[in-house]
Amino acid sequence: MNTDQLKSAVIKEIDRLNPEIVKLSRLIHSKPELAYKEFFASDTLTSFLKNHGFKIERGIGGLPTAFTASAAGRIKAPAVAFIAEYDALPKLGHACGHNMIGAISAGAAAALRNLALDSAGRIIVIGTPAEEGGGGKIKLIEKGVFNGIDIALMAHPSNKTRVIGRMLAVVDITFTFIGKSSHASSFPYEGINALDGVILTYNNINALRQQLKEDVRIHGIITEGGQAPNIIPDRAAARFYVRTLDMKYFKEVLEKVKDCARGAAKAARCRLRIDTGKFAYHPFKPNYTLSGIFRENMKSIGIKEDLIGERDGMGSSDIGNLSQVIPTIHPEFAIGKMNVVNHSPEFARAAVSKFGTDMMIKMTKAAAMTALDVFCYPEKVKEIKREFKN
Ligand SMILES: [Zn+2]
Ligand SMILES: [Zn+2]
Repeated sequence: MNTDQLKSAVIKEIDRLNPEIVKLSRLIHSKPELAYKEFFASDTLTSFLKNHGFKIERGIGGLPTAFTASAAGRIKAPAVAFIAEYDALPKLGHACGHNMIGAISAGAAAALRNLALDSAGRIIVIGTPAEEGGGGKIKLIEKGVFNGIDIALMAHPSNKTRVIGRMLAVVDITFTFIGKSSHASSFPYEGINALDGVILTYNNINALRQQLKEDVRIHGIITEGGQAPNIIPDRAAARFYVRTLDMKYFKEVLEKVKDCARGAAKAARCRLRIDTGKFAYHPFKPNYTLSGIFRENMKSIGIKEDLIGERDGMGSSDIGNLSQVIPTIHPEFAIGKMNVVNHSPEFARAAVSKFGTDMMIKMTKAAAMTALDVFCYPEKVKEIKREFKN
């Protein structure tokens, strides 16, 4: 079979697997689990993959709900990883649609395993827990789980269909100010007001904002602000997220933000503790060659891309970290109307809607077809890697 015939066969196989793929998505949706507690979801996905002949390894990288499912094709290389996410959000359930991500990756991999093993290299599904703030992929990268993988792909539910969306680096930073309490009316001169440290930090950051490049986001809340109006607060704290589009500038901005707090501490005569989050999400590094292949496949099965710029509506994800290590794509697909956005109850409903489910199946096809192109055209792989290196 040539590549086009293979693609038609794989599309037919995904249609045959349709009830199973939809069931995976529905089951995971029906039992939302938070970061690092996705036991049911990883059970559901791995038992499906095991039934389709994959070799399963659970608890990889020391994470109990992470897994790999692999199948070796006739040719040795390349190794294509389908990334699965499956964590949900507190209170909102599957309001980011991760139930569909696992189903797409498992469905595409199973179709290839069943029909295209003769033309394939290594097909591997990597189950990555805790995308929502837990940084599961970062831990798996550190443990070497992605070593030997040539290309990674996944597809994420969204309010729009777009092959490339940029993402910002982000880190979580908490400033805690320590002062000295005192009666706020009788002995204010004996006190050191920790809340002043927080308020000045907030205002310093607002002044800093004007002097920063575009594509920077700094946003925060006051988490501790004192106990009563007649007590000078001896302790106050604020927590911020700092985001930028590139890693070099990220370090510079982070230092400037810390200086805002240091200056505030000096002015308010407080002690300052700075706690920077244990890990940072890195910006997304697009791969235009691999994205182009995906786009062609998407078009060929009738999925239209929305005309929305790469830098519109930028968030952050640990897929950013992976995209810095190996060529990665993270196309988004609409599962409802444009005003139905991620992290809302409406989005959670769209994640099992008829329209959303039909889109999920189409994306499963586009993902499988893209992997076939990668397996069948070694020169494309070279081009993808050349672009990645530059
Ligand atoms: Zn999300
Ligand atoms: Zn998400």
